Amino acid sequence: MRPPLVVGLTGGIASGKTTVANWFAAFGVPVIDADVLAHELVLSGRPAFREVVAAFGEQMINDKGELDRAKMRALVFSHPEQRKQLETILHPRIRDEMRRRIRALAAPYCVLSVPLLLESGQQDLVDRVLVIDVPPQLQVARVQERDGTDRKTIDGILNAQANRAARRTAADDIIDNSGDLAELRAQVMMLHIRYLQLAQTDLPRRTE
Ligand code: ATP
Repeated sequence: MRPPLVVGLTGGIASGKTTVANWFAAFGVPVIDADVLAHELVLSGRPAFREVVAAFGEQMINDKGELDRAKMRALVFSHPEQRKQLETILHPRIRDEMRRRIRALAAPYCVLSVPLLLESGQQDLVDRVLVIDVPPQLQVARVQERDGTDRKTIDGILNAQANRAARRTAADDIIDNSGDLAELRAQVMMLHIRYLQLAQTDLPRRTE
């Protein structure tokens, strides 16, 4: 069987990646989430956890002995050099794991959700780039409503991410998430049909 067509799902903070990925999953599409893999990689005691602690210090461990993700996030998004250092530890491992999981799938297509797909130059892992587009002011409002992240951290994250125009240019498909959830879901459904059709064509696959 051919490997699945790989759709790389990306978008800025709070653009709706999780919401969209969950709908693809509800349609029976395998979803591989780089954030989930990153969480698993830094579970206490794993090699990447030890490397992160060696690089950033014991103060990054919370009282449960786990990596303090909120603290790490605030640090790396206000210090670009440290963000690079963290990415050097995590990205090759996430990449290897994503490739391994894609190859193990038996499905017409799969969704690879990678928030920094474009910023980290990982388009080569995917057959199509699906971008969720949303105006920055809506991103800020949705993050604040969801988890009350402070404005400085949100601005740091927005600055570290590709800008809207760059994302749109890199996209094969675009979801407009400036409307309500029903409008979002309708777009996901249309794309699901399109990807099933594309998966039946002879297009070469990256993972072949
Ligand atoms: P992050 O980058 O932080 O991981 P994300 O891109 O995965 O975020 P979601 O978590 O799916 O984004 O969405 C961010 C928040 O915005 C959530 O609380 C979600 O319920 C809400 N949201 C997403 N799309 C819409 C919409 N169209 N209308 C209203 N709320 C929305």
